[in-house]
Amino acid sequence: MTKFNFSKRVPADGTDAVGAILKAAADPKIISFAGGLPAPELFPVKEMKEAVDRVFDEHGQEAMQYGAAKGVTALREWVLQHVKEKENVTGQLENVLMTTGSEQALDLVGKAFVNPGDTVLVEQPTYLCALDVFKSYGANFVGVEMDEQGMKMDALEEALKAHPEAKLVYTVPNFQNPTGRTMALERREKMAELAAKYDVYVLEDNPYGEIRFKGQHVPAVKSFDKTGHVFYMGTFSKTLAPGFRLGWVVADEDVVSKLTVLKQSADLHSDNLAQYAVVEFLNQNDLDAHVKQISDLYGKRKALMTEGLQKYFPEGVKYTDPEGGMFLWVEVPGVDDTVELFKKCLEHNVAFVPGDPFYAGKPQPGAFRLNYSNAKEDQIKAGMKQLGEALQEAVNN
Ligand code: PMP
Repeated sequence: MTKFNFSKRVPADGTDAVGAILKAAADPKIISFAGGLPAPELFPVKEMKEAVDRVFDEHGQEAMQYGAAKGVTALREWVLQHVKEKENVTGQLENVLMTTGSEQALDLVGKAFVNPGDTVLVEQPTYLCALDVFKSYGANFVGVEMDEQGMKMDALEEALKAHPEAKLVYTVPNFQNPTGRTMALERREKMAELAAKYDVYVLEDNPYGEIRFKGQHVPAVKSFDKTGHVFYMGTFSKTLAPGFRLGWVVADEDVVSKLTVLKQSADLHSDNLAQYAVVEFLNQNDLDAHVKQISDLYGKRKALMTEGLQKYFPEGVKYTDPEGGMFLWVEVPGVDDTVELFKKCLEHNVAFVPGDPFYAGKPQPGAFRLNYSNAKEDQIKAGMKQLGEALQEAVNN
């Protein structure tokens, strides 16, 4: 057998802990709150089929040809208009790059800015795939404390003072994955201010912001950015469909042009047919109305989940109360090993994602993420009862 000499970028242990969890949770008798998928019953399949048909009728050759690295101009124009209307973020076409999902934007920013040994500041906990991306470029992480209002700005400033070498701050300010928390308005303003003061870049990742079922929209950190230190990322994955793999970055022109060079090395450009189809869909359909349907459904499912938490969970369990997005976060006191807890829940035919991989530093024992977008109402009702019973057993033993 050949022992392959992989680059340092490849994780040494080669294990995929979350993959193993999702595999265990895929057993049909298990009610799984472990995944992170949108509700497929709301994908606009018919409307998209019509859009694709029109693309083939009207722009078939362009859609099947190689395209521009930055993306289809009409779609970049839509993004520009969209971020202005929704987030109060202004810019020119040169500030927009279409990416292959926002995951690629994460990777390109990691590649463009993170040298081995560079410090990246992250929310504690944070999106685990972002940790994987930055780790692959050799980042050292510093976790910054959060509360119900998102990342704490006094903690961020302390971390920036303690780590003057820090290069990047990564944040998911709306309905964060994994906690569901949203960063308060004043903190966003402060974050942009701190980025300029300490000359550190903020990577603002906003896949969930539009999926709000309660409360008032809060504009992006980027809308307070006067110096170009904030790079903003969006995606169609949660508002339309993740399968198209279409996301975007809005950033300073210089940053966008360097990211474009790196993107060319990665995939030349994002899927042209998908971009043309989405433009056509947006021209003929009301995306806001569609997003409202999604938000209403997730709001109902989240309410059912919270009802289950209140009814069945042991005393003293803490949980977040998101106003949008797809996840909530649970902390069970007195649990030392969350993976053991996960196994116990599997015995009760219910699954979640243990919190450990979401932490850059020491994980909080007994914490886990629940997804409410992808389970049907009757599954949520039954699953929360089973989960409550498993937790009662774990806590009382
Ligand atoms: N960022 C966060 C916080 C996410 O939760 C996800 C999807 N799970 C992504 C980025 C990647 O999304 P996509 O590549 O589909 O746009």
